[in-house]
Amino acid sequence: MGIKCLRSVAPEGVFLVKFDVAIVGGGHNALVHAGYLAKAGARVVVLERRPILGGACVTEEPWPGYRINTYAYVAGLLRPNIAEELELSKFGYSPILYDPQAFCPFPDGRSLSLWNDTDKTVKEIAKFSKKDAAAYPKYEEFWDNVLDLVEPLMLAPPVPLADLVSQFPGAEAEELVRSLFLLSAQDFLDEWFESDHVKVAFATNAVIGEMAGPRTPGTAYVLAHHNIGVLEGSRKVWGFSKGGMGRITEAMAKSAQHHGAVLRTGVTVKEILVHGGRAVGVELEGGERIEARAVSSSVDAKQTFLHLVPREHLSSDVVREVERIKSRGAALKFNAALSGLPKFTVAPETPGPHHRGAIELCPSMEYLEKAYDDGKYGRFSEHPFIDCELQSVLDPSMAPPGRHVMTCFVQYAPYELRGTTWDEFKPKAAERILDTYAEYAPNIRDVVEHWQVISPLDIERTLGLTGGNIFQGDITPDQIFSFRPILGWSGYRTPVTGLYLCGSAAHPGGGVTGAPGHNAAQVVLEDLPTLPA
Ligand SMILES: Cc1cc2nc3c(=O)[nH]c(=O)nc-3n(C[C@H](O)[C@H](O)[C@H](O)COP(=O)(O)OP(=O)(O)OC[C@H]3O[C@@H](n4cnc5c(N)ncnc54)[C@H](O)[C@@H]3O)c2cc1C
Repeated sequence: MGIKCLRSVAPEGVFLVKFDVAIVGGGHNALVHAGYLAKAGARVVVLERRPILGGACVTEEPWPGYRINTYAYVAGLLRPNIAEELELSKFGYSPILYDPQAFCPFPDGRSLSLWNDTDKTVKEIAKFSKKDAAAYPKYEEFWDNVLDLVEPLMLAPPVPLADLVSQFPGAEAEELVRSLFLLSAQDFLDEWFESDHVKVAFATNAVIGEMAGPRTPGTAYVLAHHNIGVLEGSRKVWGFSKGGMGRITEAMAKSAQHHGAVLRTGVTVKEILVHGGRAVGVELEGGERIEARAVSSSVDAKQTFLHLVPREHLSSDVVREVERIKSRGAALKFNAALSGLPKFTVAPETPGPHHRGAIELCPSMEYLEKAYDDGKYGRFSEHPFIDCELQSVLDPSMAPPGRHVMTCFVQYAPYELRGTTWDEFKPKAAERILDTYAEYAPNIRDVVEHWQVISPLDIERTLGLTGGNIFQGDITPDQIFSFRPILGWSGYRTPVTGLYLCGSAAHPGGGVTGAPGHNAAQVVLEDLPTLPA
């Protein structure tokens, strides 16, 4: 990937130096964290157990020439000022904006596309409901107002819920809090729109990555979490990075290295070393010890506190709170190499504009809720919801000439399957996904040349994401802001002095935002002068 990392065994002598900060894991938040710390002059080492950096934000080549966004597949959440301050474009990050943002084919022969241009989307929505078409610009304005409020909160330590609510005085703001924190996506969307087709086009973003259905209270917040994207100056949008999502983390790694951070791959942290109640370094598998004045963990809170910090350094209350964090897998990835593009019955033009953004295979709100019903009881959905992208259409460098890549995010895939295991069930899951896909694009089986299923168990095994939860812990209202990861320890500091959380387990949670890594760096920099040299 063009980044020279130190591999498993460092050259003798290199680690005689004591670091200011040792960072556990090398996902995008660790790299952002390292970038800010190194830029401020701290001596930093990143320790990643996989052979590549990037965590859940990587692009790999499971089949020669096919660049697959194995896990994260859409960009937009990355905070623009992080990209700017770390000069990511100088290091190869080049965003591509989707347009349409989404294409939703329906079994009744109709389809709905959501465009970046509001007027174009209004016309599309009018095919389903004139009333909803009139409501849409106000819906857009609502989210712009939310973004104005939420953006500054993302790049700072979380404020307690009571203070958060009091920041928005007045009936209108109270109404906003009611909508975002208390409602289900279904209730929220019912207040805006009458057409089920229109509602479901927005609802999928409210359940992405969550073991929750559109009728689950709190899912309106999940919708908000996925509606704060900013890309190429446009708000509330998605796209990806030229060359794949991995280009984002490659750029972050290059930026951190440019400022002097040491990046090591193929090294697994076995233990966070604690002496006198203070984190003093880490021990790697194989026995190597790395001394540091502070340790930042970018792996999830359960891994950090239940597996890496020896139990005697934590109170039983903290252990109990960490054990109670909900970290439930809900999704799998189905990635494929294609010889041609899927041809949709409702939009036969191939390639057509609908191939250029997200393709949402989810015909109704009830379909989505029923898909969740299966997941809730330990079954892979009989009729899954599929969020599909064909990124080689926008960026031909993703596949060999004339070929394509397809990446599908599929729900609901519970971590624990009843009566079977993921390793056993994967081929059946693939068949079910292709059957579902074929209802919209009958040629899908003819064009799929290779496929892979990345199950919640694979996500846990490969990345260490507990339960296969894509966000390092559910992002429901009970686990965000000052509740993340646990009440009392939401500001990146932890019960162990000198140990910090800098990954998605911390505020503002999951997604390729860079925000936890950025915010935690400010806290570490504030504390470093107080920590022993
Ligand atoms: C399938 C999937 C799809 C997603 N889709 C999107 C999307 O499209 N858009 C989006 O914005 N977000 C998406 N997300 C969420 C987003 O990718 C994550 O929230 C984000 O990448 C997490 O970054 P992180 O740096 O906090 O942690 P991680 O990426 O989880 O990085 C943690 C790193 O720590 C390493 N590690 C673990 N244990 C150890 C150890 N003991 N020693 C050393 N290293 C260790 C892991 O190998 C990993 O590299 C998706 C996530 C998944 C899993």
